[in-house]
Amino acid sequence: MTVILYAIPFFFLLIALELWVDRVRGTGFYRLNDAITSLSAGVLSRVMVVAHQLIPITVYVLVFEQFAQFSLSAIWWLWLLAFIAYDFFYYWNHRLGHEMSILWAAHVVHHSSEEYNLTTALRQTSGAIFSWIFYLPMAIAGVPPEMFITIAALNLVYQFWVHTRHIDDLGWMEKIFVTPSNHRVHHAQNKIYIDKNYGGVFIIWDRLFNTFKHEEKDVEIIYGIRGALNSFNPVWANCQIYAQLIKDSYHTKRWQDKLRVWFGRTGWRPTDVSQRFPLQKTLLEHFVKFDPSQSPLTKLYCTLQHGIMLTVTLYLLLALQSINGTAQLALVLAVLSSAVMTGFILQGMPRALKLDSIRLISIAVLLGFMDVATWLQISIVALHCVSLIIGLMVLRKVAHQINETDDLSDEPSSS
Ligand SMILES: [Zn+2]
Ligand SMILES: [Zn+2]
Repeated sequence: MTVILYAIPFFFLLIALELWVDRVRGTGFYRLNDAITSLSAGVLSRVMVVAHQLIPITVYVLVFEQFAQFSLSAIWWLWLLAFIAYDFFYYWNHRLGHEMSILWAAHVVHHSSEEYNLTTALRQTSGAIFSWIFYLPMAIAGVPPEMFITIAALNLVYQFWVHTRHIDDLGWMEKIFVTPSNHRVHHAQNKIYIDKNYGGVFIIWDRLFNTFKHEEKDVEIIYGIRGALNSFNPVWANCQIYAQLIKDSYHTKRWQDKLRVWFGRTGWRPTDVSQRFPLQKTLLEHFVKFDPSQSPLTKLYCTLQHGIMLTVTLYLLLALQSINGTAQLALVLAVLSSAVMTGFILQGMPRALKLDSIRLISIAVLLGFMDVATWLQISIVALHCVSLIIGLMVLRKVAHQINETDDLSDEPSSS
């Protein structure tokens, strides 16, 4: 966690740099709605880590204490060995994360963006509840929990920079490391690229286990997933496949199928449910990105809300040890509700703004009673007031547009 916390400023610096390059080159690889959703998913995953990582880490510690014959010491080459071993287990964790429905349900979030930029790297799952199982051999081999946590964080931090379209083929590096080029292939939904390049830091595992695919120069990559998310709600991005699996296992008749829905190959569905509830999959030739347009004022509102949410999250993560449980819960509620409501507004539901004004007032009052920093309370009140004014302006504009449309439709036809 600490490694990732230290890395956060660099993440944002590099995102700013990529954004600048994007503007200079005019490539248009960034979209506000998509970037906000990616960052919100990243924020939720970090907030959830605080809660649910306790279980996996406890299991890892238990296995380490019970089964490890010896504890590896902090010699540099042992660190290197453990780092390579972690990446090997990461490969299998990631590969099964694509190949088995229940694991795909958690991993899908990372692939739900239809853009590919550094914010995509932060679009992480909040529900990787089974990943830790893959790393238990490391506990048995004697990798101490502190060493394991640091290595896992370093592996994740490495993966950040490969989520860019601004770096081409890197020559010899493509043979050994995961690079922007070979990871772009992993995020593609083009048929020739499906289920390829699972490595975290090293691409050698893919070459070894026949899942490697080189990026073809003449193939335009279509990013995202076949069953498009069509939402900017990061909570829904985390639940989408779980909801589908619950529905399928509930409706299918055979009990074996009820289990196979979860543990079968990703995409497999029992015949009875697939006939009753067919899933729509867009043909790639007609692929259109989910991108409802928004007024500049709505964009300003969402950017402001997102900025507040990032600040509250950073405060929560840094002050975690010094604030009580109730304050932690209130801050989590502020973050979660902001992420969901901003998603709705970005989706083209301006009326969600009415509901959001109630949220803005409630959160400001709630945090006012909490044992959190005074500067945060004052900033929230001030920024929520500004947001209310902008929200009101957006709503007035929408009401005006509706009136104009009504007037036009009331006019008698000239023909
Ligand atoms: Zn993946
Ligand atoms: Zn990725």
